[in-house]
Amino acid sequence: MILVVGGAGYIGSHLVKELVENEDVIVLDNLSTGHREAVDSRAIFVEGDLGNEEVLQMIFKSYPIKAVMHFAAYSLVGESVLDPLKYYENNVASTLKLLKVMLNNKVENFIFSSTAAVYGIPAVEIIDEKTAASPINPYGHSKLLIEQMLADFKAAYGLNYVILRYFNAAGAHESAKIGESHHPETHLIPIILQQLLGQREKVSIFGSDYETPDGTCIRDYIHVNDLASAHILALKALLSKEKSAEVYNLGNGQGFSVKEVIETCEKITGLKVHAEIADRRAGDPARLVASAQKIFSELEWRAERDLEQIISDAWRWHQNQLY
Ligand code: UDP
Repeated sequence: MILVVGGAGYIGSHLVKELVENEDVIVLDNLSTGHREAVDSRAIFVEGDLGNEEVLQMIFKSYPIKAVMHFAAYSLVGESVLDPLKYYENNVASTLKLLKVMLNNKVENFIFSSTAAVYGIPAVEIIDEKTAASPINPYGHSKLLIEQMLADFKAAYGLNYVILRYFNAAGAHESAKIGESHHPETHLIPIILQQLLGQREKVSIFGSDYETPDGTCIRDYIHVNDLASAHILALKALLSKEKSAEVYNLGNGQGFSVKEVIETCEKITGLKVHAEIADRRAGDPARLVASAQKIFSELEWRAERDLEQIISDAWRWHQNQLY
């Protein structure tokens, strides 16, 4: 059985839907940002906090857990600057408890959701895993701290792990039964689609004076189901002992500016976005684009869905958002 912590969240719920096809799955989620309706009915669901050692003990004692996949983190850069305690408490202290209880119960396979935010403001155009990790906000720091702990725990206790550094997760399941739903929403693609649905007056473009061709920030958008399939491959590689301590970027390898994303949304929906230039948002690097060559060479994973597919799947979800 696989324990998915944070399996009711945006990325976790898409992974669970795929994982239940081949594995028994138990989800632990405190529903602070996740949605109970997003959890596939074939998974066992436990409502609880990953920092609660009693709940963790109960799970490890009651079920034959062979690996843990950990998605339960706060992930908003701006919020992490304003409230770093929240980030260090949940993303670091609670994750440490999870690792401790795991190791005490001799569960030694761990898949960790990390982030492009560990790279801070990279000095290179295309970021690979050898690019120096140097976060510029508490969110990025909280993820890098756990990455460092995992390496130490590998050396000392033999913990096996795969770290997956996501670039910009976006899109929705092709069924349109699950998708992205944050309250409040801060991410670019849902905000644009909500504007097109009349749910918000305008889209603010955060900065048009960046050193990029059109002045707006460039990001590498990756479909949430491509992320899910990378996790499935990483899990197989861990369980088969093919891999035991790895870090991989997950991205498309292609960057799109905020203006290009808006144009693509207009093309897919046939509607006109009402957008206005606004001030820069604190903590935004101009450009974050991944090289995902390493995971392609080693696990034969590559992103299969492009920006148009991401937006058309997200559009179907947002038109009939279930939660
Ligand atoms: N962005 C924007 N307007 C918005 C939301 C986001 O211009 O209302 C920009 C943001 O500054 C960044 C890009 O869109 O350059 C992606 O932001 P998002 O919050 O989706 O993801 P992040 O890159 O912060 O993880």
